[in-house]
Amino acid sequence: MKNFKIAQPSDFKQAAHLLAMEKSGFYPMAGGTDLLDEIKNGIISPEAVVDLSSIPNASFIQTEKNAVHIGALTLVNDLIESSLIETSYPVLHQAAHSLATPQLRNVGTVGGNLCQRPRCWYYRDPQILCWKKGGENCFAYAGKNKYHAIFGGEFCFIVHPSDLAPALICLDAEVLIATAEKEKKLKMADFYHLPQENRRGETILEPGELLKEIVLPLPKKEEKSIYLKIKERSTWDFQWSRRLLRENFPEKGSMIFGSF
Ligand SMILES: Cc1cc2nc3c(=O)[nH]c(=O)nc-3n(C[C@H](O)[C@H](O)[C@H](O)COP(=O)(O)OP(=O)(O)OC[C@H]3O[C@@H](n4cnc5c(N)ncnc54)[C@H](O)[C@@H]3O)c2cc1C
Repeated sequence: MKNFKIAQPSDFKQAAHLLAMEKSGFYPMAGGTDLLDEIKNGIISPEAVVDLSSIPNASFIQTEKNAVHIGALTLVNDLIESSLIETSYPVLHQAAHSLATPQLRNVGTVGGNLCQRPRCWYYRDPQILCWKKGGENCFAYAGKNKYHAIFGGEFCFIVHPSDLAPALICLDAEVLIATAEKEKKLKMADFYHLPQENRRGETILEPGELLKEIVLPLPKKEEKSIYLKIKERSTWDFQWSRRLLRENFPEKGSMIFGSF
């Protein structure tokens, strides 16, 4: 792992300013459960990491006027422990409960979960230059693609791994995006885009833009919701497991993904 600098901004504006100035060499980090994995596995080599956890008051769940606001640095576990989320937004509460492990939910944040990178094994293999990482091909197209997208591929067939995203889209949530100059709000449903030739990320965020807050409309009285997740085993499942990895990569097995 290469050394990198850490910047600790005091607000989102400063963080966005740093990211806008340095563009590709600087990466935002919240809980670090995905970003640090990417660094350690040699998928990215940042010049500096902009540590969003230094921003005060960025973790909250609060009701204001006609909406519930959730700060980007709110832990996934805070969603589970919130009686407001449990009673008013069961789909979100259950999605939060379904994801990862208690340890990861205690460190991973809502913003980080929504912006995490794909779990495609070609993307996560440092030795493979897939389309997402600047290569020419999506190897899943003709390769191992049991958990990949059926529709809308063309350049890349990943599916986004966030459990919170579909729940928030169902709830008609909005996202507040911070830039160095101003803030903007858009529908959660418009936050992600399909792979496009000149856009290899998953979200509409440009360098220098950060997810700051989620805004949920107040629940309607007649509204009911539930989150159902299909997994191959009852503990955490990223749609892959050691067994599946061995089946898919018999020659490498758990070597590359040893930490799993
Ligand atoms: C073993 C394992 C199992 C898992 N299982 C599941 C699962 O079942 N379901 C699921 O949904 N997730 C799962 N995850 C993913 C986990 O939930 C994420 O790692 C976590 O939510 C990311 O949060 P974080 O705060 O640590 O993000 P970080 O690692 O800090 O960041 C993740 C990414 O988002 C970017 N980022 C972070 N915050 C912001 C922001 N505010 N604005 C813009 N960009 C930002 C970072 O640059 C980085 O690219 C699993 C992870 C592991 C390791």
